[in-house]
Amino acid sequence: MIIAVDGPTASGKGTIARALADHFGLPVLDTGLLYRAVGYQTQLNHGDADNAADALAACDFPDDLLDDPALRYETTGGLASRVSVHPAVRKALLQRQLDFAGQPGGAVLDGRDIGTVIAPHADAKLFVTASAEERARRRHAEMLGRGVDIGYDAVLADIHARDARDTGRTEAPLLRAADAMLLDNSDMDVAEGIAAAIAFVAERVRRPS
Ligand code: C5P
Repeated sequence: MIIAVDGPTASGKGTIARALADHFGLPVLDTGLLYRAVGYQTQLNHGDADNAADALAACDFPDDLLDDPALRYETTGGLASRVSVHPAVRKALLQRQLDFAGQPGGAVLDGRDIGTVIAPHADAKLFVTASAEERARRRHAEMLGRGVDIGYDAVLADIHARDARDTGRTEAPLLRAADAMLLDNSDMDVAEGIAAAIAFVAERVRRPS
């Protein structure tokens, strides 16, 4: 079984993807991490994330970079969003994602284009979202917990910028697949969002469309 989980930044899609993987006993791939690794490697190379050749050169990052805590930084998310607009970068990361999705028994993948490009044939697709203000509130609280305070307004501005770049790009934009369940968790707590996602996938498996 393949489960596709897409959605904007700070929507909680990663948490939901991991919970689905646990519940259904599947491996999970956070595809955002691949773009983050490319963005970060571009910086390590002293390249420019907006330059397609520099970003492409960073696609052969070493595997252990995926474990680097720096990939989780807010600034790395911004770099990821910039390198991800280049079609050559998306192409370079494609096979890795297809291989993961195609493994025997299936997988859960989360990202921006899983239900539309990577696994359009997925058995269940979710589009996880929440209002920009709610996502900024959660991201701000999470950053405060790590001792980082750039202020709520700066977090909200960053979320708007990331949304605009992710939905506005021509190649594989952030888009809800027509057959994806819309899970707006603005008014849900984490447990409610997870329960709704599990119920949807369980129903899909029982009665595939
Ligand atoms: O999900 P996360 O915030 O870690 O993703 C970082 C960036 O990588 C996103 O803002 C997006 O631009 C890009 N990305 C993408 N396609 C994916 C996953 C992430 O373009 N499948």
